[in-house]
Amino acid sequence: MTDTTTTILSQRVMALAESETLKMARMARELRALGHDVISLSLGEPDFDTPDFIKDAAYQALKDGYTKYTPVAGLPELTKAVSEKFKRDNNLDYRPEQIVVSNGAKQTVYNLCQALLDPGDEVVVFAPYWVSYWEIVKLSGGVPVPVYAGVERDFKPTPEQLAAAITERTKFVLFSSPCNPTGTVFDREELKAYADVIAPHQHVLIVSDEIYEYINFTHEHVSIGSFPNVKDRTITINGFAKGFAMTGWRLGYMGAPRFIADACSKIQGQVTSGASSFGQKAGAVALMGDLGPTEKMREAFRERRDIVLSMLEEIPGIKANHPDGAFYVFPDISAYFGKSDGQTIIHNSDDFCDYVMSGAYVGLVSGAAFGDPNCFRLSYAASEEQLREAIRRMKDILGRLK
Ligand code: PMP
Ligand code: GLU
Repeated sequence: MTDTTTTILSQRVMALAESETLKMARMARELRALGHDVISLSLGEPDFDTPDFIKDAAYQALKDGYTKYTPVAGLPELTKAVSEKFKRDNNLDYRPEQIVVSNGAKQTVYNLCQALLDPGDEVVVFAPYWVSYWEIVKLSGGVPVPVYAGVERDFKPTPEQLAAAITERTKFVLFSSPCNPTGTVFDREELKAYADVIAPHQHVLIVSDEIYEYINFTHEHVSIGSFPNVKDRTITINGFAKGFAMTGWRLGYMGAPRFIADACSKIQGQVTSGASSFGQKAGAVALMGDLGPTEKMREAFRERRDIVLSMLEEIPGIKANHPDGAFYVFPDISAYFGKSDGQTIIHNSDDFCDYVMSGAYVGLVSGAAFGDPNCFRLSYAASEEQLREAIRRMKDILGRLK
């Protein structure tokens, strides 16, 4: 079979890379099954449980018979709740008909790329970027065009760089704030400058992924779609996975111009028929409910960030950024390139992550997967004890590299 796989499998899937975040999480599970004491800081998944009032809403929905298909774009009470949330938190005016609820924000990105991209269309992606942006754009026939900024600029590209990347073929500009993988938060002025660059290009849309909105330590989350000059051309993505610790529920959503929302619903109607009924009922309760548990989680993440940063500072050769949101640090480790412990030479961030995994059983993700081969991503969505132990182990093993 192996010999013929290349003729059986599509070119499309052959060209697709496995999700690096999910791959590292799988490797950690496999090593654990072999009896190794692995600390996995690779997956972007809150270690908290979903708040009880949200779970209760799902149990109640099941008892009330919400066990059937829903409208493809979402239950009316959820699309209404999303529309109100966008107004309340983000000063965005998406009507319920402009909302599409999907099986996670990942599917939202996929629907959008399928709906908007023809072969050769370009998508300007801020780099470092979330792994799946790159692959989903390619899977949809698009050409991702990275606009890169490194740690010294807190991973924020300049407006000039953005301007230079836009061409006649650009369909949209895609980024997340707070950002996965860097934790960078773009402030009002920075977003306004990007909006001003994009606004004159009438053919260019903005896709703003705000799934980490509630994990922001600056106390101001700004949605680029709230600027009048790009308001009608901005698609805002959000979801329940991060802020409400609901990764396994598979529930995300977007607000978009009506014709784009309709196009995404058409795609979704053919591929998933929509998100689960009782999950959507609970989602509406989450959005309109008490944000207290979410705020508690945010505070815990902030404390962990501080612990992680102060411990990483103690390791020579690790140049960490100072993230203002999400639950990731994205340090530059290029100072290790060319070093060796006598057996293994570290050439790049893939080697660095393999070395830490095989020698210290700590799972990280190589920055190469996110478009920055000088860095690695550490997810601090883990207990304080695990974080302390993991970084202690890293310090020990990295000390052997000369
Ligand atoms: N966007 C970003 C930036 C993410 O980090 C993730 C991670 N899961 C997603 C979208 C997808 O989220 P979901 O679990 O809702 O599919
Ligand atoms: N978004 C998370 C991450 O980046 C979850 C895994 C995934 O969907 O890629 O780790």
